[in-house]
Amino acid sequence: MTRPGVRVTRPGGEWRNWARTERVRPQRVEFPATAEAVQRAVRAAADRGLRVKAVGAGHSFTGIAAAPGVLLDLTDLSGLVAIDRERARVTLRAGTRLHRIPALLAPYGLAMPNLGDIDRQSISGAISTGTHGTGARFGGLATQVVGVTLVTGDGELLRVDEQENAELLPAAALGLGALGVLVEVTLQCVPAFLLHATERPEPLDSVLADLPARVEASDHFEFYWLPHTDVALTKTDERLPESARRHPLAAPGRWVEETLLSNVVFGALCGMGRAVPAVVPAISRLGARTIGDREYTDRSARVLTQRRGVRFREMEYALPADRVCPAFEAVRALIDEHGWRISFPVEVRFAAADSLWMSTAHDRRTGYIAVHRYWREDPAEYFAAVETVMLAHGGRPHWGKMHTLDAAALRERYPRFDDFVAVRDRLDPTRIFGNAYLERVLG
Ligand SMILES: Cc1cc2nc3c(=O)[nH]c(=O)nc-3n(C[C@H](O)[C@H](O)[C@H](O)COP(=O)(O)OP(=O)(O)OC[C@H]3O[C@@H](n4cnc5c(N)ncnc54)[C@H](O)[C@@H]3O)c2cc1C
Repeated sequence: MTRPGVRVTRPGGEWRNWARTERVRPQRVEFPATAEAVQRAVRAAADRGLRVKAVGAGHSFTGIAAAPGVLLDLTDLSGLVAIDRERARVTLRAGTRLHRIPALLAPYGLAMPNLGDIDRQSISGAISTGTHGTGARFGGLATQVVGVTLVTGDGELLRVDEQENAELLPAAALGLGALGVLVEVTLQCVPAFLLHATERPEPLDSVLADLPARVEASDHFEFYWLPHTDVALTKTDERLPESARRHPLAAPGRWVEETLLSNVVFGALCGMGRAVPAVVPAISRLGARTIGDREYTDRSARVLTQRRGVRFREMEYALPADRVCPAFEAVRALIDEHGWRISFPVEVRFAAADSLWMSTAHDRRTGYIAVHRYWREDPAEYFAAVETVMLAHGGRPHWGKMHTLDAAALRERYPRFDDFVAVRDRLDPTRIFGNAYLERVLG
């Protein structure tokens, strides 16, 4: 069954992810618009002996969302359910895309406390894989979750929040899609705020030398290193009250920089770099001279998120924050030694420790190192070498990004792994929400 206007499946019913690393032709695609319809779909799948899986925007690089049985496209299960003004909480339908949320919250003077690089994902997909942004005092998106309602393996509705089934919240807020189908998500918001952003090209070595101090001194710090250069493009965002004066990037400037330079021209350069790898270092050096160096102040979501028009593949590992510099230096040395021509930047971000069982930042202050490759280039050799470095530094892979770990390796890296599996046994004993990726990472 297909339907026009629905974004996650293509005519003919084939689903593929954004990065084009996964594709599947589900036996059935359904478009539930209510929690009851999700319940019916789960029960019907069980009766037919099929597995069932909700997909969000298909922005995971792994097969975590692959649904060969029944694919639940939650595009129609979207929007605001309720606002608790006193406690600054919002309940959203599970398929709501992140980019819709600022407008839903604006009338109430609220915002999400932090976001990742883009806003195309669904709220459920984003929290389920541990999507994060940057900021040493801020957790990933799942740490904003104070309640969820999900349909469990027997088709029943289960509310999990501080009043009901509270012991399940550290599992259900970041559940890898393994515990059930989320139908509602309640987020703890904050008063709407602005961010003052400073973007600068800086000498990489001086950024690394001062890294812990810079991370601590700012609300949101990150940097991109363009391989084959000595330049780090830093981005430092400071939080300001909503009443502060906005100095947004002028709309044409925003378009020229983000859409044209960062995306269209970059895409052409990546294509050129693929055809003639020897030109990549020169292109990167040119890029390092021309990108960055700007300041602006705007609403939080506009500053935190950008557009990504050039398709790529990504691996990202979470490290103890104090391992970021040595691991980064090892990646830099790898690129030099192997002579790879890498046209995409290495991205470094930070997050606070949290207590969610499957969070990459579980119980430790965390730094993230992400490596990327243009989607038409084979990432295997580069990613495998980087993964070895990350594992040696105590890394945990992002659940939605490429990695090769299995349950045995992950169990050692997550102290609450077995507790999570026990919750899975309780909520999905028949593994109706399973797929090949979950079999690999959870056993
Ligand atoms: C261009 C790009 C930029 C990115 N930037 C960042 C970033 O800055 N930071 C970061 O951490 N990650 C980032 N990611 C990764 C991305 O945020 C995650 O992979 C996220 O899970 C994608 O959300 P989605 O809605 O596309 O979910 P999908 O990939 O469709 O699904 C992810 C998981 O969520 C489950 N799921 C979806 N809906 C439900 C539901 N209703 N109930 C239960 N389970 C559900 C799926 O079954 C699957 O297990 C980026 C990815 C891309 C392609």
